[in-house]
Amino acid sequence: SSFMELHLSRPLLRACETLKYTKPTPIQAACIPLALTGRDICASAITGSGKTAAFALPTLERVHSMIEQLAQFVKDIRCCLVVGGLSTKMQEAALRSVPDIVVATPGRMIDHLRNSMSVDLDDLAVLILDEADRLLELGFSAEIRELVRLCPKRRQTMLFSATMTEQVDELIKLSLKKPLRLSA
Ligand code: AMP
Repeated sequence: SSFMELHLSRPLLRACETLKYTKPTPIQAACIPLALTGRDICASAITGSGKTAAFALPTLERVHSMIEQLAQFVKDIRCCLVVGGLSTKMQEAALRSVPDIVVATPGRMIDHLRNSMSVDLDDLAVLILDEADRLLELGFSAEIRELVRLCPKRRQTMLFSATMTEQVDELIKLSLKKPLRLSA
């Protein structure tokens, strides 16, 4: 199949072209059309399978169309990084400026939510839990549960994991609604 058949819009098709993604990988071909419907998804996919683009492309599409719905012409989508080891002050300022996409590690994100009155997840539309098995192995179970609790009930959730352990299954039950299951 081709990216065109996955119903991505022209700007994202151009992005794939520029990045020399000539053909969707199996996880992308399976995930993108389903994610675009808004359904929850859990997928077994390892690094190198193209899983990042499998969730990033449909998420960008949703952000893009939400912005369109608001009849605003916004050229760039603002993304901010919230991870440990970097300045908390700068991250807080970035979070307050209401970015479209936040890429975060659970520990640091929780710190912001606990410590800053003006940072919340109330408007979150899509929650992506990437490398779920690794996060749980590293002991972030409590933080992830708290993050999920702080997200709006009405949202899309996509979970990616190389392995489907018992712990990952528990997290799926807790954070996804009727997920479609994929593997690649
Ligand atoms: P990931 O599995 O998300 O860690 O991605 C592995 C690598 O594959 C990244 O460097 C991507 O840029 C690249 N990649 C993702 N999708 C495609 C594709 N359809 N065609 C070629 N390369 C890709």
